[in-house]
Amino acid sequence: MTLMTGKEYIESIRKKHMQVYMFGKKIESPVDDPVLRPSLNSVRMTYDLAQQPEYEELMTVTSALTGEKINRFTHIHQSTEDLMNKVKMQRLLGQKTAACFQRCVGMDASNAVFSTTYDVDQKYGTKYHENFVKFLERVQKGDLTVDGAMTDPKGDRSQPPHKQADPDLYLHVVERRADGIVVRGAKAHQTGFINSHEVIVMPTIAMGEEDKDYAVSFCCPTDAEGIFMIVGRQSCDTRKMENAPMDTGNPEFGGTEALVVFDNVFIPNEQLFLNGEYDFAGVMVERFAGYHRQSYGGCKVGVGDVLIGAAALAAEYNGCAKATHIKDKIIEMQHLNETLYGCGIACSALGTRTASGNYLIDLLLANVCKQNVTRFPYEIVRLAEDIAGGLVVTAPSEKDMRDPKLGKYIDKYLCGVSGVSTEDRLKVLRLIENLCLGTAAVGYRTESMHGAGSPQAQRIMIARQGNLEMKKELAKAIAHIDQ
Ligand code: SF4
Ligand code: FE
Repeated sequence: MTLMTGKEYIESIRKKHMQVYMFGKKIESPVDDPVLRPSLNSVRMTYDLAQQPEYEELMTVTSALTGEKINRFTHIHQSTEDLMNKVKMQRLLGQKTAACFQRCVGMDASNAVFSTTYDVDQKYGTKYHENFVKFLERVQKGDLTVDGAMTDPKGDRSQPPHKQADPDLYLHVVERRADGIVVRGAKAHQTGFINSHEVIVMPTIAMGEEDKDYAVSFCCPTDAEGIFMIVGRQSCDTRKMENAPMDTGNPEFGGTEALVVFDNVFIPNEQLFLNGEYDFAGVMVERFAGYHRQSYGGCKVGVGDVLIGAAALAAEYNGCAKATHIKDKIIEMQHLNETLYGCGIACSALGTRTASGNYLIDLLLANVCKQNVTRFPYEIVRLAEDIAGGLVVTAPSEKDMRDPKLGKYIDKYLCGVSGVSTEDRLKVLRLIENLCLGTAAVGYRTESMHGAGSPQAQRIMIARQGNLEMKKELAKAIAHIDQ
C-alpha cells in the first residue's frame, strides 16, 4: 500500500494508543471527540485529495527512494518544480479546509533531516542518514502522517539549555545505553501531533558543546511509552460540543495544538538522527525553519482565499458589493494574499540542490516570505471584519435561530438582500468569525505571527543572508568611493 484513503487513515489513527488529555480528562477516543475531530478531518483531506484524479499531479509524486507513487507530503524534493508544487499543494489544502492541515510539519522536518543527517555522516562517519532513509521508506510505503517537533518550552529565554534552572526545559538525553538513549523534556505548540502516526524530534536552537545532551534528533511513534499530550485551548473551542454546527463557522475542519511531554522515552539507536553532534543543531533548525517558512506562503494563502471569498460574499449579502471602497478593500486583500504566494513560489523557484541530493529553498526569500506572513494576514483579517460588519460578533446562536418563537424574529431582523436567506448570511459571518477570532484564528492569525518562528527569528536570518557587505560595495562603486 502506498496511498491510503481518508477513511483508512482515520482508522489507522484510531488504532493508536495515544495518551491525550483535554479539559482535565483523558480522552479515550480522540478520533471521535467533537472538539478534536475537525482537526483529524483536515489531515484526512491530504489523503482524500490524493485519491482524486484532478489533483493527482499536485498531491502525488514518484518517490526517489522506492520508485512508487506516493503522497507528496512524504516526498523528498528532487527539483525546484517539486518545491513549487509543494506550495501549490498547500494552497489547495488551505482552500479546501480553511484550517491548518498539519501534515506539512513532517514533510518539512523530513527534508531538513534528510540533508542534515547526510552532512553529519560526512563529517563524523555516523549512520544517521541511513537510519533516516529507512524510516522514510517506511513512512512512504505506509503513507504515514509524521509530525515534526521542534519547539522546546525554553524557560528563561536569556539562558542556553544547560543553564536552565530545570534541565528538562529543553528536551535532552538523560541516559545513554548500548542499544539507545532515554530522553526527557517537552515540545510545545505541537501542530497535528495527535493526528500523526510518527514524530521527528529536532533541537530548537543552535547549540554549543555544553549543550551536547540537548543536540538530539530522532523519530518515534506518537504513542511510544512515556509520551503524552495536553491539548491547547482555542477561542470558541467548546462550541464544537454544542451540537450547533453553524455556530462553529467551519463545521467540518479545524486544527489542533498540544503540549507534548516526553517522560523518559526510550529511543533505539536505529531511530537516531543526531546524538550529541551539537555543531549541526543550528543547521537542522535553519533548514527546517526555512522549509516551514516557505510552507506559509502556501497554506496561509489558501486559507486567505477562503477569507477573501467570505468577505466578498458578506458584502454581496449585505447589498454593498458594488460600493467602490468595498471593491477596493477586496482588491487590497487579494494583493496582500498574492504577495505571500509570490514569496512562497519565489523561494521555491530559486531553490538549490544540497549535497545529499534533495532541494533546499532559497533561505533569504523563505524568511522574507514568513516575515510578510507575520503581517499581511492581520491586515486581511482587519479588512474582512471591516467589510463584514459588527454582526460577526453579535449574531445570535443557531439554537435561537431554530427556536420556534425566536427564529422568525432573527429571520426578519437580521436579513440582508432579498434572495439570500438570513441563515446563509449568518453562516458566512460565522465563517469570518471563525477565521478571524475563533478556533481557526489559531491557524490563520496568531500562527501567522509565531508559527515557523516569531518575526524576530526571520529578521536574524534576513540579516545573516542579506549580504550587506556586497551592497555596500555596490554603493561605493556607483559613488566612485575607492576605500
Ligand atoms: Fe501546514 Fe500551514 Fe499547518 Fe504549518 S501551519 S502545518 S504549513 S497548514
Ligand atoms: Fe505551523
